[in-house]
Amino acid sequence: MKTVSSLLDDEWYKRYKKISKLNIRSSIYDVTNRCNLRCKGCFFFSSNEHKAANEEVDIKKWESFVEKEKERGVNLAILIGGEPTLCLDRVEVFDKQLSTFCATNGLIKIPRDRFPKMGIGISLWGSGEDEKVLRGKNTFPISSKNYEGDPYTYYLYTITPRQIGKTEHVIRKIEAAGLKVHMQLLSNDEGVDGFFWTIEELKDIREEMDDMLDRYPGTVISSKYYHEVITTGKMLGRPFGWGECPSVTAPLDKREPRPKHLTNFVRWASDLQTMHRCCTSETRNCSTCKDGAAHMSWIMVNKRAHMQSTGDLQNWIEVYEMFAKLYQFIPW
Ligand code: SF4
Ligand code: SF4
Repeated sequence: MKTVSSLLDDEWYKRYKKISKLNIRSSIYDVTNRCNLRCKGCFFFSSNEHKAANEEVDIKKWESFVEKEKERGVNLAILIGGEPTLCLDRVEVFDKQLSTFCATNGLIKIPRDRFPKMGIGISLWGSGEDEKVLRGKNTFPISSKNYEGDPYTYYLYTITPRQIGKTEHVIRKIEAAGLKVHMQLLSNDEGVDGFFWTIEELKDIREEMDDMLDRYPGTVISSKYYHEVITTGKMLGRPFGWGECPSVTAPLDKREPRPKHLTNFVRWASDLQTMHRCCTSETRNCSTCKDGAAHMSWIMVNKRAHMQSTGDLQNWIEVYEMFAKLYQFIPW
């Protein structure tokens, strides 16, 4: 059997050793069922996950819940919603006890005096025109003003088919705001006309994403292998989907055979008792799922499959590093 050290030279082996120590154990939390936007294609609202549970309002219960999550081995809390900034007291409970990442639409500024180093990811759905169509508002002017130059914030840029040929403009604006960017693809959960991906478009956007990474390496946090996997839906010839997805809530996962999966992963609803099926929409068709984190995790949990060649293992290392940078386990 091939070993890691036999496949890598000294430099790559050092990179491997750095990430192999991290042992990231994440779970995802709906902080609230409310949002100050209603985006067309938001997986949370389109699948009625906002009605799955009543929000827990007693902050003491949030405190004891987070303590139990720590005991369960979680070392990365990913906060979503709804819009977590509507409930900063709940966000603070996580940030005080755990390495925490908060996804936000960026309209409300998270005060850095209260959350000095918390990782923040601002959702962005393209240029102003697309944002108006899909989200009812061009959020960038507000979010970029709120977070300009922030060293722990990046844009999570959800690319739509209409963005082909236009991503550079968006990335340059992000660079000018002194922020980083990570790209993923729209899954179009609400079937908005003109926002479905064709095979040709996926090929085009893959080339464009590669080009952006080459030209803006100090701004774009990504990897070409991630681009390949997310645009083709294939990893080492295996198709992504329900049978392979690693981001299914562990206690609800009754798949046989059970694929490689994230250890003890749970996506919790805001009552702190209900669990959702997976890291994204409860009702999404897995065969068309483009969720970026699920694809990254898919690669990460399949290290052994990437030990057939040096190139495969280097691809795996780059994706792991990308994930670790996005969640602040290593500097970007
Ligand atoms: S900002 Fe996020 S949570 Fe709010 S509606 Fe849009 S996608 Fe959904
Ligand atoms: S919708 Fe996506 S993330 Fe959820 S189980 Fe299906 S493939 Fe996995």
